[in-house]
Amino acid sequence: MSRSVDIQNYINGELMAPFNEHYLDNIEPATGQIYGRIPNSDATDLEMAVKAARAAQKKWAATSLDARFQILNRLADLIDANSDRLAEAESRDNGKPIALARQVDIPRASANIRFFAQAITQFASESHAMGEIAINYTLRQPLGIVACISPWNLPLYLFTWKIAPALAAGNAVIAKPSEVTPLTAYLFSQLCIEAGLPKGVLNVLHGTGPSIGGPLTTHEHVKAISFTGGTSTGQHIRQVTAKSFKKLSLELGGKNPTLVFADCDLEKTIAETGRAAFANQGQICLCGSRIYVQRKIYDAYVKGLVKYAESLRIGDPLDTETQFGAVVSETHMEKVLKYVDMAVEQGGKILTGGSRHLLQGRCESGYFLQPTVITGLNNSSSVNQEEIFGPVCTVQPFDDEKEALALANDSNYGLACSIWSSDVQRCHRLARDIECGIVWVNCWLQRDLRTPFGGMKASGIGREGGVEALRFFTEPKNVCISYG
Ligand code: NDP
Repeated sequence: MSRSVDIQNYINGELMAPFNEHYLDNIEPATGQIYGRIPNSDATDLEMAVKAARAAQKKWAATSLDARFQILNRLADLIDANSDRLAEAESRDNGKPIALARQVDIPRASANIRFFAQAITQFASESHAMGEIAINYTLRQPLGIVACISPWNLPLYLFTWKIAPALAAGNAVIAKPSEVTPLTAYLFSQLCIEAGLPKGVLNVLHGTGPSIGGPLTTHEHVKAISFTGGTSTGQHIRQVTAKSFKKLSLELGGKNPTLVFADCDLEKTIAETGRAAFANQGQICLCGSRIYVQRKIYDAYVKGLVKYAESLRIGDPLDTETQFGAVVSETHMEKVLKYVDMAVEQGGKILTGGSRHLLQGRCESGYFLQPTVITGLNNSSSVNQEEIFGPVCTVQPFDDEKEALALANDSNYGLACSIWSSDVQRCHRLARDIECGIVWVNCWLQRDLRTPFGGMKASGIGREGGVEALRFFTEPKNVCISYG
């Protein structure tokens, strides 16, 4: 994987160059160097993909569940068989530590596919009996062609999280991975060919939001859009599709609170909330970046968190010992640093980090930041209200449960939170009252693929995961049969 890679679109079962031969540079975040080209696809490529998807969809929908299960499982097996190559590609493309890609991203990608291959065989529909009068049953039929648009932070993980249920449910998919991290979706296209996925069932178009994302979301034959990305892009997609009645699932940004109570297991809490703040360089929508700590243990917690942040081994993402890699791009690095400056302007105190981290050798021009802990800011500070999506967390004290809840809910976002306490009743009360879609108690990022996944408020609409995803990618049709 050391040579330059020219990425191709995947249309009608074939890998091909973009029709208009427009390309973008692919930059390795750890080195700042160009290492390949990405198609900047446009409406011409989209028309080819739509044509292929239309030709393939009905036959795919009529394929037996068992056959779909077999093909998707073959694909999952191929991901496992290529896991080293895929992990290296993900690490190089995104800047994440290769150890993380090996342990989390790539195994999760094959798990996503295996999970939905199996789930579709267990997908039951409802029946409503009307006594002596009639019986209703619900058909759940594929939608047709659906668009799956995914972000750069967990590239193959989130790409497969969308396309697996869409394909399992019998749809044809046109997918657009983030232009910033296209490599594993390209390698995945190669695996689809090897797995024998029928032509046109999945089409992958690379390129920017404006050149291909926009035309894809507004195309008349696209019946549904499953989107994961930033809140403003989600708002834009909702606006441009408002008149078209497309189904929308929007998984958007987060600014997740972490609530630490004095009765927690402090050592475990520091390690796990530190991981929640800094995993993947803070670039996970579920990262806990607003940390609220009960005053009694505030000093001890802060000291422990700073120690944790300073212990993380920053280095070349391709080094297996690295725990903390590069952020995804220069633009993103500058954005994160701007928030650090803003924090200082607003009276914040940087306890550790706050700067670019310079390495020697291969990574001397890479986009590395230091894990950063900030205290002394109000909750209304833009640093506490806006999503930074980088290795920056703030810590604030609170006195009691009521105040902790008010601080947690004082946000436009509502994706996830974590609560750290040994008082089980308190944990239940808070879980009930916190305004977010996912609550973790004494753990973080413990995922069960059957559970509803998504957020409220500015974190999106709809839920992914398990039966929710299969419902999204199917159209329910009620059939009422009279007993005569
Ligand atoms: P963006 O919103 O910038 O992009 C997401 C995807 O949408 C990319 O593929 C992007 O392409 C594409 N896109 C951009 N503009 C348009 C458009 N007009 N029409 C259609 N598609 C478009 O998000 P990021 O890639 O920066 O990802 C980070 C964001 O994702 C964060 O806010 C994070 O919180 C959120 N996220 C949410 C998750 C959740 O489950 N709720 C999970 C993971 C991330 P391009 O690459 O060209 O910009």
